[in-house]
Amino acid sequence: MRNINCAGRSILAVCSAIVLLAGCGKAVDTNSGNAPADTTLSAVGSLAASDTDSAKAPAGSGTTSASEAESSAKTEAPTPTAAPTASPTADPTPAPESPAVPSEDPAGIDFVSAETALYTYEQMMTDLSEMAAAYPDLLTVTSCGTSLDGRDIPEAILGNPGSEHHILIQASIHAREYINTLVAMEQIEYFLHHHADGMYADASYDQLLSSVCFHILPMSNPDGVSISQFGPDAIRNEELRNGLYDILQNDRDGGRTSGEDSYWRRWKANARGVDLNRNFDAGWDMYEGVPYPSSDHYKGTSPASEPETQAILNAADACNAMITISYHSMGGVIYWDYGSTGEVYDKDYALMSLVSVMTGYSGSSSVQSSQDAAGCSDYFVLVRGVPSVTIENGWSECPIGIEEYPSIWNANAELLPALAFTYKNG
Ligand SMILES: [Zn+2]
Repeated sequence: MRNINCAGRSILAVCSAIVLLAGCGKAVDTNSGNAPADTTLSAVGSLAASDTDSAKAPAGSGTTSASEAESSAKTEAPTPTAAPTASPTADPTPAPESPAVPSEDPAGIDFVSAETALYTYEQMMTDLSEMAAAYPDLLTVTSCGTSLDGRDIPEAILGNPGSEHHILIQASIHAREYINTLVAMEQIEYFLHHHADGMYADASYDQLLSSVCFHILPMSNPDGVSISQFGPDAIRNEELRNGLYDILQNDRDGGRTSGEDSYWRRWKANARGVDLNRNFDAGWDMYEGVPYPSSDHYKGTSPASEPETQAILNAADACNAMITISYHSMGGVIYWDYGSTGEVYDKDYALMSLVSVMTGYSGSSSVQSSQDAAGCSDYFVLVRGVPSVTIENGWSECPIGIEEYPSIWNANAELLPALAFTYKNG
């Protein structure tokens, strides 16, 4: 076991989470992997810093900025009975003061390197292959779909595929929010790296991995991420690539943008300008957004019209996911509820409470509107009755720079073990 280090989260909070959610008051080895690394990681951060065409989320105000938030708080969330570090009524969570500069890569540098926020599709595929080869009994990697530009959308299957308890996690459905791919990849590595010595409450990581199965899509929108990282030349299909320039011109003509580099860097959609998190069949008719392909807020021609949306649905259907997590940026907040009722609402509240205690982020109840609908979590909660939350990592403009990664990692390091512990019995 590793020394307890509670820089990002109090031991009390973790114990309280277990008391609240698992009825367990036993000693905790937080294994808090607090440690990310690198003091030499500023190159990509400067990209975000120079990006001025976005509104920052005002710390301590009622909602995140319209340009960033995937949902907006409409009603007050009830207060969990025990959540010392997280008040679900406050939104967004203030940025932490001077996050500790880590001395080593959070999950170990064996596979996934957190040296740069510019973590690419190709690097992710290499790292997934190497991890699966190193831990063949614990991790398999498959494809749950193919993007418009022909990229496999990988699904990392971590744990016991024969389990009855399956948890779906997807990240980077919004292109510029690709810092979350790094989070998801390091969560996989962290669980694998500590499978033999990690403990959560009274359960070993090995026990947890035999009891549940995670289905993790670290990059749901690989074409969009590639556009955000490298511009439209990252798209190999000529028709799609030309279409991107048409979309840019249309947004210029409409006064939605004046720049070009910042336009691509802040791209959220897929390779034909569909905002995938407005492409789900939950409030899709009601959602307005923009009526033409764009960098964001265009819902597509019909629900689930896009192969990347279908890939997420395929993965969830194939495993019969019992809960889902969507990673986005930014705001340090957890969206939940979506207008659910009864048992689904109660279960979504319990999930939000667990995530709130583990991450230190505040919960924010969100209900659909014409400006805010057709998202992935909305769909799973409202249509499938599957408890789901959206976690918004980071506090500054997207793309989030690597200087924020240590605090983001610290908030998310032990979320998977906590989910496994909580849901291992259904
Ligand atoms: Zn997003």
